[in-house]
Amino acid sequence: MKMITKTSILFATILLSTATLAGAQTFGKPTPAPTPARAVGKHPLDKGDFKVGFSPKTKRQNPKKDMPKDEKATFQEIATELNSFLALPRDVYLNLDTCDEPNAFYSSETSEITICYELIEQYEEDFKTIEKSQKKVDEMVEDTLVQTLFHELGHCLIDVWELPATGREEDAVDQLATILLLDGSPEGSRSAINAARQFEIASRDEHADDMLFWDEHSFSKTRFYDMLCLVYGSNPKLNKNLVGPNRLPVDRAERCSEEFKRAERSWLKLLAPYVIE
Ligand SMILES: [Zn+2]
Repeated sequence: MKMITKTSILFATILLSTATLAGAQTFGKPTPAPTPARAVGKHPLDKGDFKVGFSPKTKRQNPKKDMPKDEKATFQEIATELNSFLALPRDVYLNLDTCDEPNAFYSSETSEITICYELIEQYEEDFKTIEKSQKKVDEMVEDTLVQTLFHELGHCLIDVWELPATGREEDAVDQLATILLLDGSPEGSRSAINAARQFEIASRDEHADDMLFWDEHSFSKTRFYDMLCLVYGSNPKLNKNLVGPNRLPVDRAERCSEEFKRAERSWLKLLAPYVIE
């Protein structure tokens, strides 16, 4: 696994996206420069930080090997960037771990966001089925990992700030992840489209006879279309090629601008009290 490259770009993309959330367009303030030191104290509600590694609780229950040094350093940069613009009521730990399944999760109990190494491998396998160039596969994996991290960040923020979320939380945090990826640039749209394609690939394994109707996640193909709708809605002109056969049907596409506006407005309103300006 070429984690250094992947996570470096992961970080670069996150920088780009978080700049949009805290930046001039949305809040009328310039984008704050990343702060190397602890951001606690800048915001009255900021009592915690994103930290890298396993939480003290996890370490006590199940002593784990430390993350590799390079990956730890990259995660630290991500954590520092998140700390510079998001207030937290307590510390939340970001880590990579071996999980015996391709997954990623936020645990309220241990206060951790974990991305499994197996998930990175799964994404790589998935994208290799549609793309020959390793360089492009790597890009697709990186984009999808960022989406995954932002999705888990959404679960985390709903939990720690007790944010209201009616309807399916899984759909709500998918929306947040996509909105964060969509920074207005063509690269942002490309990243979100790549992440959406992973859902389309995953949907190939969902057969009508064994659909998990009880699952809290929407079906992969629905998540694919929901993401495409937000991408298209964020900039219909730039993304007009997303509408058509095997892509977004016109019937859905015509309402996507409004859908994007409402989703973005909702998340920005929910997060506004916790954004460090
Ligand atoms: Zn989730």
